Amino acid sequence: MSLVYKFGGSTIRSASALRMIADIIVNSLDLRFVVVSATYNSTNELEEIANAATKSTCHSKDLIASFLFKHESLARELEVLNFCQASFEQFKLEAINYCDQIHESLEVSSELMDALYSLGERFSSVILYSFLKEKLHHEVEHLDARNVITTNTRFRDATPLFGIIERNLTNLDKTKVYITQGFIGKTIDGRTTTLGREGSDYTASILAWAIKATRLIIWKDVGGILSWDPKIHDGAYKLSEISYDEATLLTEAGAKVLFHRTMNPLKERSIPLEVKGVYAPTEHGSVISNKPHGKILGLVETKKQDYSLLSICGNKLISNASINQLIETEINNLHEYNDNLATFKINSQRRDSLLEKIVQIVTHSFDS
Ligand code: ASP
Ligand code: MG
Repeated sequence: MSLVYKFGGSTIRSASALRMIADIIVNSLDLRFVVVSATYNSTNELEEIANAATKSTCHSKDLIASFLFKHESLARELEVLNFCQASFEQFKLEAINYCDQIHESLEVSSELMDALYSLGERFSSVILYSFLKEKLHHEVEHLDARNVITTNTRFRDATPLFGIIERNLTNLDKTKVYITQGFIGKTIDGRTTTLGREGSDYTASILAWAIKATRLIIWKDVGGILSWDPKIHDGAYKLSEISYDEATLLTEAGAKVLFHRTMNPLKERSIPLEVKGVYAPTEHGSVISNKPHGKILGLVETKKQDYSLLSICGNKLISNASINQLIETEINNLHEYNDNLATFKINSQRRDSLLEKIVQIVTHSFDS
């Protein structure tokens, strides 16, 4: 038995959220890896720091200072600041050094961006590790993910080198729980890379693949995969079981629920992935495995400046009578259509009424 957990940035917003995460970890049996994202919004802030550095190092230094302050406050609230201080000091010096290099070259190269990005996950993992180890006296190890996630040199969108990663992991102690970072990796010659924005899910799935984990659990602030984003319409329902391909279909249609490459390694070794909510850890989430949902999965909206793309995702769409009827009436707005996806391109005036119709169709399919 072996589990891999991943906690996303939206769950790492405050000291109380970190306490809740620590509680979940402490109460887990058979855990091998805990993968963390940067704290909430930190990756965006690192982009702002890099952009500021192209213009003024004074401004970027101010932003680095607030970035540091945010993490110091979190560590102080958890009473682990003294354990984190040496790492934080080192991270600050690194950040200043990267910004100086960005300023000199007047542009943010992908390589420097990745080096700077890595600080987000390194800050959050040091805080979580220190809290677990020093305050809760829980047996954990801190692992720099870059020492195991070897990638090619495609900065900002690196490809993991699976064979090497699998070998790297054989050097770790199988009896230990490792707290590590999502998103980041390293080239063979030692340069920091990242797997692409939102790539922490992928790190977790690569690790689960490499150790042939029994399950990967991705912990979120919502309790599973929903049929649509509750911000666009109420009444969304939870997809309790879907297949790897169905989950990939949703991510390819633009659903933000998981990083699009996450399913590949898991499917290859039939490792189930559960998406669960940190606020209700004992409740069932959504399980992604070989077992398909088989029906319509949901609706995904991609908003552009002056139009929206509304997609119905699922199975056997071409033989669904309500969808065929909708397609006939909306034929001028039909953007893409196949057995798994029907996308309408719609302007803002007509968007709400089309959304209503699609919600009805999806809901009806779920209920039937
Ligand atoms: N922190 C990175 C990002 O926001 C990676 C992740 O959270 O998955 O893109
Ligand atoms: Mg994130």
